Amino acid sequence: MPAPTADDSELAAALGAWFAAQARDLPWRRTRDPYAILVSELMLQQTQVATVIPFYERWLARFPTVDALAAADEAEVLRHWAGLGYYARARNLHRAAQAVVERHGGQFPRTPEEVGALPGVGPYTRGALLSFAFGLRAVMIDANIARVLARLADVQTPIDSTAGQRALESAAEALLPADGESARIANAALMELGALLCKPGEPPCLLCPVKRWCRTTAPAELPRKKPRRGRVALAEACGWIRSADGALLLEQSAGPRWRGLWRLPLLSAPPAGEPLDVSRYPFTHHEITLQVFAAPPPDALSPAQRWVQPEELADFALTAPHLRAIRRLLDVAPTSAR
Ligand code: SF4
Repeated sequence: MPAPTADDSELAAALGAWFAAQARDLPWRRTRDPYAILVSELMLQQTQVATVIPFYERWLARFPTVDALAAADEAEVLRHWAGLGYYARARNLHRAAQAVVERHGGQFPRTPEEVGALPGVGPYTRGALLSFAFGLRAVMIDANIARVLARLADVQTPIDSTAGQRALESAAEALLPADGESARIANAALMELGALLCKPGEPPCLLCPVKRWCRTTAPAELPRKKPRRGRVALAEACGWIRSADGALLLEQSAGPRWRGLWRLPLLSAPPAGEPLDVSRYPFTHHEITLQVFAAPPPDALSPAQRWVQPEELADFALTAPHLRAIRRLLDVAPTSAR
């Protein structure tokens, strides 16, 4: 680890002072419990802070400890995640809790190797656990921190390349104070600066507490990323199938995309006629067009299918795109006779 220069120390001190004055009071900042911090970090991946807060609080009320989560069954875990989307995070959290209980007797490990070996814990989450929970000096680079570091150090290499990642890591290494507690504050401050001030586009640099040290002259152009591969278009045709008493037919997916989650039943081919609802959503390198067609009830249900009354929908872990389509259609679609 390169020793921070006097300049780097002043930068970290300026960040810390700004953080003390400006940081938001967020529930996961009031705890050092590694389990609660892991929950918050996984929820915050791809989800806004304001959305996460009520989910985080409900989650900890239902699964207050790593043992409680490890002992829960997967269907219940997924149901409590419903609404946050990206269910792989819930599965990983569940598996990580089980690993903490099985491998470490319910106590979170504290070494980078053991923390990084927990399911779903990549370099960023590992750094967050080491720094935020245990107060150890650790580099952690999420999208906000990456943007701030790329601008501070004027990193022109695409940050989604190996060389770009290295440049960000060495900028973080240079900036982080030697003692773990000050490094924890610097990490939190970098993240908060990216969330509140050094945002994408043209940031208000005149208000920035670290402007003196910032090397970029064109912040809106940073961070750079590699050109994106085009997304492959895929179509998905599903049935809107209602019973005479208003129930909706759902199907539990066994495929890799939505394993274990509930969705509208897949149709083997789009029927003739206009779809009731059309929406698009990205999935890895695909752009999926979801079309929902009115369809008659099947003669017999498959083992994966179930009639569900609209008021029971909250009991099912539904995929986010299908849930959105169902919400739109429940307002408008007629009940089809069984
Ligand atoms: S001076 Fe501007 S670009 Fe540099 S860190 Fe501050 S807000 Fe970001």
